[in-house]
Amino acid sequence: MRDIAHFVNGQTLTGASGRFGDVFNPNTGEVQARVQFATDAELDAAVQVAAKAQIGWAATNPQRRARVMFEFKRLIERDMNSLAEILSSEHGKVIADSKGDIQRGLEVIEFACGIPHILKGEYTEGAGPGIDVYSMRQPLGVCAGITPFNFPAMIPMWMFGISIAVGNSFILKPSEKDPTVPVKLAELMMEAGAPPGVLNVIHGDKSAVDAILSHPLIRAVSFVGSSDIASYVYQTGTAHGKRVQAMGGAKNHGIVLPDADMDQVVKDLSGAAFGSAGERCMALPVVVPVGKKTADELRERMVAEIGTLKVGVSTDLDAHYGPVVSAAHRDKIADYIRIGQEEGAELVVDGRDFQLQGFEKGFFIGPSLFDGVKKGMKTYQEEIFGPVLQIVRADSFEEAVALPSEHQYGNGVAIFTRNGRAAREFAASVNVGMVGINVPIPVPVAYHTFGGWKRSAFGDTNQHGVEGVKFYTKVKTVTARWPEGEAGDSSFVIPTMK
Ligand code: NAD
Repeated sequence: MRDIAHFVNGQTLTGASGRFGDVFNPNTGEVQARVQFATDAELDAAVQVAAKAQIGWAATNPQRRARVMFEFKRLIERDMNSLAEILSSEHGKVIADSKGDIQRGLEVIEFACGIPHILKGEYTEGAGPGIDVYSMRQPLGVCAGITPFNFPAMIPMWMFGISIAVGNSFILKPSEKDPTVPVKLAELMMEAGAPPGVLNVIHGDKSAVDAILSHPLIRAVSFVGSSDIASYVYQTGTAHGKRVQAMGGAKNHGIVLPDADMDQVVKDLSGAAFGSAGERCMALPVVVPVGKKTADELRERMVAEIGTLKVGVSTDLDAHYGPVVSAAHRDKIADYIRIGQEEGAELVVDGRDFQLQGFEKGFFIGPSLFDGVKKGMKTYQEEIFGPVLQIVRADSFEEAVALPSEHQYGNGVAIFTRNGRAAREFAASVNVGMVGINVPIPVPVAYHTFGGWKRSAFGDTNQHGVEGVKFYTKVKTVTARWPEGEAGDSSFVIPTMK
């Protein structure tokens, strides 16, 4: 059995805890490797190494740090195919989605290549007589990231890409379900010229997370995962005096107004609800058609569209989506479908009996469609995170907008319409962090910023973009006065001029 070890100080660190997690191939249902879980002492060793490495790295000028990022980008592009294959084999997403996962992370690295410009700071000349004021952003020290299974390349790069570029060192605790690509990224970072210790990977479960949250040398923690754990990480990390941003779960709505381009809506929904088996925090698992006519047409066309979807192994280039990440997750999705029926929603398409010939032990589940879903239902309130689309009918624009606004989650939302005024009003008033207008998955580009509202995010700063730079730096403001006539003391010699 292949063991996946930690990566510390530019080298493999074999863990001694004797605790492991199984890493499956979701296509076959077989365990393909086991990942070592770190002890507190191993985490501490990684932090000590990172703290030492950070001093020299922070003193490296920003242009040199940016050159490492440029080289890292080149290496990822070089290895794109092999990284995507590994990612696909541990996560189960199809190759195109796996490349997309890496590509969206790479875009944050491209942003980080511009760090010398971004870190320039602010300057006010003559804030008072002979007084100039300037501010600079300085790195925090050692930072840590705890990431979910569903984007094992993109989300680590959201975090360490910015954190390292601004001069921090980093401890990454990736998901134990698909840990190989994060280790490869750290290896590539070393190959790109980052000094050993600047990026380290420590594997584990809650125990490793707790060790991170209480370690005195870790200054900031970025977390992405489910909301209950995000809330726990936020509370525990801040109680230990750390800066914490913790992104949580989601239940994104797509509002369809009667004037929407229905051909586009059906295609967009098919990708956004079922792509990557619905395991995206920006998926669209809820659609809200406004008016009966829109709802009836949408339902009929979605049933036909679902009939065209191909579920297959993740290496099948024609497959729309592959297996979900684990048997437990597949069973949880099936359970939600059962509950949805019990709650009185109409199960129009049932994906539970789907089996892929030759891969009967794989973690596959077919697409499902519910109609008549109501606000009070548990299956509407909670995140299912699978290939299940729920139709919630609304009679008016106001009723439709109220649904995502009042939902416990507020990650993303989309509106489909040809009416610019309605779209504008929607974008301005909806109580959600990321809005798409005729864009089903409005993940902001890397130089903007990613983050939801309500129970989709705890903390004040978003991921990447300028917000990311703020999260990983602290600002220092200098007020300087150079009074006239006091510089002539000949006994004073600037040390470097001796
Ligand atoms: P998860 O919450 O189970 O795990 C996330 C991380 O927390 C992993 O590294 C895991 O090892 C660790 N962890 C697990 N149990 C823990 C515990 N009890 N205490 C402390 N740490 C623990 O999430 P997941 O299943 O890997 O990912 C899916 C979830 O992530 C979904 O809810 C999805 O919406 C969310 N997500 C959110 C965003 C976003 O930006 N808002 C992006 C991607 C995924």
